[in-house]
Amino acid sequence: MGSSGASMGGAAGQGRQAGGTPRAALADLLTGNRRFVSGQPIHGHDVTAAAAASGDQQPYAVVLGCIDSRVPLEAIFDQTFGAICVIRTGGHVLDRAVCGSIEYVVGQLGVPLVMVLGHERCGAVGAAVDALRTGQRPGGSLAHLVDEIAPAVTEVGIDDPAVHPLAIRRHVRRTVGTLRADDLLAGPIAAGRVAVVGGLYDLATGEVALLDPG
Ligand SMILES: [Zn+2]
Repeated sequence: MGSSGASMGGAAGQGRQAGGTPRAALADLLTGNRRFVSGQPIHGHDVTAAAAASGDQQPYAVVLGCIDSRVPLEAIFDQTFGAICVIRTGGHVLDRAVCGSIEYVVGQLGVPLVMVLGHERCGAVGAAVDALRTGQRPGGSLAHLVDEIAPAVTEVGIDDPAVHPLAIRRHVRRTVGTLRADDLLAGPIAAGRVAVVGGLYDLATGEVALLDPG
């Protein structure tokens, strides 16, 4: 099992790159997305793969994405067991549990890459747009999601005809910026051992495009 990935430029998707470079980790993630988009994934999610990865974990990236059912992160990056850590919240909103989880995989597992992945037609961002447009803040903990996304909507401008798609991109960049300033991540980032990047997933094509820091 272990040798097939090694022939694809390192250990693509094999989950054996902890401590590698951010650049190599990003290349492997995007290579996995290209396999997915081309209809040629190499990783089936069968129990033999689970067993092969059942020792100590050595993931090479952590992806923070949305809970949206149309964006299953291991699938769209064609990753196998043990390869990536995945965190999903509505609109990839951060809280202490999310930040602590990322600090853990970076600090304790040596993961060199953090990707924040937004997606087109995100309902959480749409809820924030609606809340600002109507002045109706939702109740419960949903208010936390809306409150965290609202600044991206405001920066774009609620009256912009493209406020929803533009706020999706802005919110990814804001989330990336918050993580880059995280107390425990800023040092490794400054030393070049860790990178935080933003991406956007196209629901129709399956493609992940990197967003510039903007
Ligand atoms: Zn979403």
